[in-house]
Amino acid sequence: MTACGARKGPVRVIADDPIGVALHEMPGPRLEVFVQKGAASHAVDADRTRVSSRLGRHGLRISDLLLLYGSWKRDMRDPGGVPSVEEDGVIQADNRSSMFRLEILAAESLGARGLCCKVTAGKRRILIDPGIALGYRRHGLYPHPFQVAVGVTLRRKILAALGDATDVVLSHAHGDHVPLADANPFQMALDDAVDGLRGKPIWGPDLRDLAGAMRERLEAIARAANTPVLAANGRKAGILSFSQPMPHGEPESHLGTVIMTRIEVGDTVFVHASDIQLLQRDAIDRIVSWSPTVVLVGGPPLYLAQLSDEARSEAWRNALRLANHVPTLIVDHHLLRSVQGIRWLDALAAESPNRVVCAADSMNTSRRMLEAWRRRLYREIPVREGWHREYALGKADTSGFEAWDGLDASVV
Ligand SMILES: [Zn+2]
Repeated sequence: MTACGARKGPVRVIADDPIGVALHEMPGPRLEVFVQKGAASHAVDADRTRVSSRLGRHGLRISDLLLLYGSWKRDMRDPGGVPSVEEDGVIQADNRSSMFRLEILAAESLGARGLCCKVTAGKRRILIDPGIALGYRRHGLYPHPFQVAVGVTLRRKILAALGDATDVVLSHAHGDHVPLADANPFQMALDDAVDGLRGKPIWGPDLRDLAGAMRERLEAIARAANTPVLAANGRKAGILSFSQPMPHGEPESHLGTVIMTRIEVGDTVFVHASDIQLLQRDAIDRIVSWSPTVVLVGGPPLYLAQLSDEARSEAWRNALRLANHVPTLIVDHHLLRSVQGIRWLDALAAESPNRVVCAADSMNTSRRMLEAWRRRLYREIPVREGWHREYALGKADTSGFEAWDGLDASVV
């Protein structure tokens, strides 16, 4: 496997049907292997013994993998022989300018509210929605300190990606999607994000359409970054295209509108569709008309008692329609604020001929719906009264709350 160490970044090699194998090289000696069988793809751990046993389940040996890698390297030297490349929504790449990689950095299944992702597209690194929130109050409870600790890890990852980004996209100005001048202790503070925002294009909703807090937030970002927020509405800019504003959830929603983003890289078309909540058919029509291969979408807010039965049925119909059109559909955000949402997602996956997953599945990490599990967290790790006030004042930290149920807050 040492031969692989020479190459940086993800490499994907698709074998003859029905099994594809991809190598994803990590810094240092670590090697990740993705095995694709039919529409499903599974991450295989880096450890050689485990790689070997997982490959065995697919009737492959490590020598087969080396053979595939060897033939891919030969193809690299032969410009006519580019290997076939497919997508799986987790990692997809080829060796040239059409390299595509999706990394989801924050979402409810990763432990915090938001739908932040980084798309590597050739030499571009596009960061969408660099904000998070934890659900300030649910079931009468503030975020559990374990979730707070996870939030710190996620913010760090987002800030690192922001610093490295070439382009920034803001789908809308809600507090779980953008850095805030008046962030609460669990959100992304504009002061922390400002260095990463400077000197690069920032796309977002047209300020002229906005009023009140939404407009003020984007103006504060533009001022701090010393960069205007470029009106994305309906625009096309190279590999990026944007929708017109779509309702945030139901038509005529008082929650305003969101801009959806399409990124085309080689054969891959990725769509980020945050907060449309699958509640409105027009947004689904728009996505389908874009012919995407990978969609990251915010699902319906089943946790809200006021969501009507009619809206719930509409969301299910729209989700099925999308799942039938898109090879990889990643549904997360509002949907996964309740246990009911997790069941809904798994039922959708069972009904769909295509791959339907949440952000954590897509990132090959364990699901951690910490807001949905908040009451259980408090039961299992009690929190002393006054902790949140002390934390906000910088007098308490998350030590003692960094691990729960096999999960480590510093690894997300
Ligand atoms: Zn949101």
